[in-house]
Amino acid sequence: MKVLLIEDEHALSDEIVNFLAKLQYDYETAYTVKSATALLAERYFDVILLDLGLPDGDGLEILKSVKMDQSDSIVIILSAKGDINHRINGLELGADDYLSKPFSLAELHARIQAIIRRKFGTNGNVFQIGEFTVDMVARMVSCKDNQISLYRKEFDILSYLILNKNRPLTRGQLYEHVWGDLSISNGDSNYIDVHIKNIRKKLALHATVEWLESVRGIGYKVNISK
Ligand code: CA
Repeated sequence: MKVLLIEDEHALSDEIVNFLAKLQYDYETAYTVKSATALLAERYFDVILLDLGLPDGDGLEILKSVKMDQSDSIVIILSAKGDINHRINGLELGADDYLSKPFSLAELHARIQAIIRRKFGTNGNVFQIGEFTVDMVARMVSCKDNQISLYRKEFDILSYLILNKNRPLTRGQLYEHVWGDLSISNGDSNYIDVHIKNIRKKLALHATVEWLESVRGIGYKVNISK
């Protein structure tokens, strides 16, 4: 998951990114409308944490352009107390949720996970796929009580395929999600093939991985009907 934190209070921003790093999220930070806009033009973010009062403008302007250009992104507003009208505007403009400052980091994490479950129509954070168990929050894959160690990018690819289960994803979509780079074209992303190969190899030591399918002319999918 790639997270963009747009927050001009440095102490709060530092506190949030330390927490995100501990949870193994990939993140970028911006302190102004200008720097956030520049980052959003270049990269895709799964989650955008958005403070509204920024030194060079209003966070709602960022929200408007996100909803036009990256409408898949989850946006959570981080609002100061008393910002009720702002907050309502934000939700009307398409923000997924808001948190009033001060908020607990554990609550922030829980909100992100809840929105992801809602967005992908899943019930919980733990998935049973074939003989494997994948825990999205603990970022763990196991099979018959054996824990399987995947690199961070490998886990990101696998978990995104699982969230989109039964739906083929292109290499470009996977690349964009995992690396957050909007400039890659489908043909260039054979990184994905290499990672998938390594994931299959690690998993296949424990059980069959037929559910991780190559889809000709498209990319990959996790088929959970098997
Ligand atoms: Ca602020």
